[in-house]
Amino acid sequence: MPAPIIAITATSRRESDGDPARVRLNAAYIDAVSRAGGVAMITPPVAPNAATAVLRSCHGLLLTGGEDVDPAWYGAEPAPRLGRVTPERDRWEIALVRAAQERRVPVLAVCRGIQVLNVALGGSLIQDIGSERPDALVHEQQSERSERTHPVRFHPGSRLAGIMGGEANVNSMHHQAVERVAPGFAATATSPDGMVEGIEWSIDDWWAVGVQWHPEELDGADAALFSAFVRIAGG
Ligand code: MN
Repeated sequence: MPAPIIAITATSRRESDGDPARVRLNAAYIDAVSRAGGVAMITPPVAPNAATAVLRSCHGLLLTGGEDVDPAWYGAEPAPRLGRVTPERDRWEIALVRAAQERRVPVLAVCRGIQVLNVALGGSLIQDIGSERPDALVHEQQSERSERTHPVRFHPGSRLAGIMGGEANVNSMHHQAVERVAPGFAATATSPDGMVEGIEWSIDDWWAVGVQWHPEELDGADAALFSAFVRIAGG
């Protein structure tokens, strides 16, 4: 069987005024997909009506980390600590998620990705953990991206538990998090402070998993998460 093609989302933006806009993606995502046996196909923001065409030409969709999601998508006003938003990237990735759900294309969603997945299908977000949940653990670690800084517990019987086990330590580089979980999804990973760290589609007919940490920077069970995704994408 030919290697599954995985569409990987990227951002397109200027780093400062006067710079040309550039497509950006951490290469760790490409490496993780390659190690799992997939072929990376990078998909930066384009017109949302291209979503179905892109999904027809791949086997799986990987939503990557990045900027904050515009709270207008879940009917909220911007909070004071909301970070940079990227309207074109929001529109594109939300269109991809909705088209992926319709076609049952397997989805793995990382960091911003879990937030996009949740918002695209009717959920909402905490816009800034530090100001809205002052008692929470530190979720914006200052240490290396590959360092595991807080524990996560997985819901027994979930897809994530099947891959990750009952509990794991993960890295954490986010200031937003899932608040209300989208209909049809379940929160299947949580940190000890009650933050949602993973969601998944509750029925067997679609493999859609979101994680708030960065498995592409880790090994062990986290590499197994990419393997499971690529295997499912390959049918
Ligand atoms: Mn975290």
